[in-house]
Amino acid sequence: MKVTKVDLAHVAVKREQYPKTRYPEIALSGRSNVGKSSFINKMINRKGLARTSQRPGKTQTLNFYEINEQLYFVDVPGYGFARAPKPEREAWGRMIENYLEDREVLKAVVQLVDLRHAPSADDKMMYKWLKHFEIPVILVATKCDKIPKGKWQKHLKIIEKDLEKVESDPLLLFSSETAQGKEQVWKTIQYYIQN
Ligand code: GDP
Repeated sequence: MKVTKVDLAHVAVKREQYPKTRYPEIALSGRSNVGKSSFINKMINRKGLARTSQRPGKTQTLNFYEINEQLYFVDVPGYGFARAPKPEREAWGRMIENYLEDREVLKAVVQLVDLRHAPSADDKMMYKWLKHFEIPVILVATKCDKIPKGKWQKHLKIIEKDLEKVESDPLLLFSSETAQGKEQVWKTIQYYIQN
């Protein structure tokens, strides 16, 4: 997909703040530091649009990026900030739940996991939860440039097994350093937004 126009169109916490324009939405989720901002910036060819490493303590918002007047990427704040204060974690949970539970235009969630490591407890919980709500998930294993090609399959197998990945959910490799996987991820996203 050729990205020609991108805007950070909406920053939302509550339902009333979500975009009224009914473009299909693809949400992006992953634990902090997984490479989510780098992924977004690479996918839309903008260096610093998505802010990197949202730290606990900062305002947690859903950021809607409008792409080509055709779809939204919805950047969900990173999870797994175990040290964050409880009220903050609870506010995060409510915000995500409100959004994911009944957003009809949501076509799929891109859940990012780090190819180098076995999925964390938070990764597993998030995936399980998305499956509970029957949301299609595109699993993207990030930072594949940090693992030799010959070991990719072994790492993918661990992710697949530990997450108890359902067969219909794709699992794709990605690197924001080399752009490996970029076209495949776009193709997959286009498939989901057309269905
Ligand atoms: P976020 O917290 O999930 O938004 O993660 P960031 O996009 O800020 O990335 C966290 C760190 O990992 C940064 O230092 C990035 O430069 C690095 N990083 C992200 N993606 C990749 C990748 O594909 N390859 C490599 N080698 N480093 C990456």
